[in-house]
Amino acid sequence: MTTAIPTVTLNNGVEMPQVGFGVFQVPNEETTAAVASALKAGYRSIDTAAIYGNEEGVGQALAESGIARDELFITSKLWISEMGCEQTIAGLDSSLRRLGLEYLDLFLIHWPAPAKDLYVETWRALEKLYADKKIRAIGVSNFQPAHLTKLIAEGSIVPAVNQVELHPALQNREVIAANAEHGVVTEAWSPLAQGAMLTDETILAIAETHKVTAAQVILRWHLQQGRVIIPKSVTESRIIANLELFGFELTGEELGSIDALDRDGRTGPNPETFNG
Ligand code: NDP
Repeated sequence: MTTAIPTVTLNNGVEMPQVGFGVFQVPNEETTAAVASALKAGYRSIDTAAIYGNEEGVGQALAESGIARDELFITSKLWISEMGCEQTIAGLDSSLRRLGLEYLDLFLIHWPAPAKDLYVETWRALEKLYADKKIRAIGVSNFQPAHLTKLIAEGSIVPAVNQVELHPALQNREVIAANAEHGVVTEAWSPLAQGAMLTDETILAIAETHKVTAAQVILRWHLQQGRVIIPKSVTESRIIANLELFGFELTGEELGSIDALDRDGRTGPNPETFNG
């Protein structure tokens, strides 16, 4: 059964599914089966990256699915070692070849890598690829407010998306505010904190109230704030359950109690200091 997944409208008018499927840390040889399960469950948006080493596995699942290209929303990301004008253009070509696609729906600069000072040059290359219609929307990932402001000041196109680490233990409020100020959609990576928040007592109590799982509570908390989410799972039952988010609604009080779980719970690298 295909679940109707809401979309958000990006700043260039492109519609992006609000729930997608992430494949970080899934080995290439397991990726085809995981993506096939996700497509069968109703996901149409898939989030991969050159550095994940599984674009070929994603591409195989897309090809075998028989789903029309214009029903899919495929995101990939440019790795730090490929930043810079010519490398970016070659990087997109390599991702497209591995995915077996002629265009991407969204291509992101994976990290700002501030010490390299290459993200503005890289952005200009993305702007050219966008103008050449090789990408339907361009965006960034892990950009802090200062990186975003600099990019917008020196580039011609405002990023459509900023994909950042975001879950109850790291709510990244300054980044969300900066994104909103510039009309950039916030997309949450590790929306489940890689599982770390699934035994939290507050979350479990809310789950009990609604007779849903802790994961569904967290994912619903994201959705009710208008964010895009890309939960990852290689477990078919979880892949299906992570899309069953539209039959219940959290109250304002419940949202507030999850908001109160914010702490310095970063699981990934710090974008200010990570340079690959
Ligand atoms: P998630 O927060 O999506 O958590 C994934 C983990 O949670 C896996 O161990 C999975 O287990 C488990 N899980 C998933 N659903 C459930 C469930 N319903 N119940 C219990 N456990 C569950 O972590 P990710 O780090 O994978 O983030 C999601 C996506 O974000 C990535 O796959 C990637 O596409 C993107 N990302 C982007 C980054 C960036 O720098 N831009 C960085 C990191 C991630 P199992 O698979 O065993 O079922």
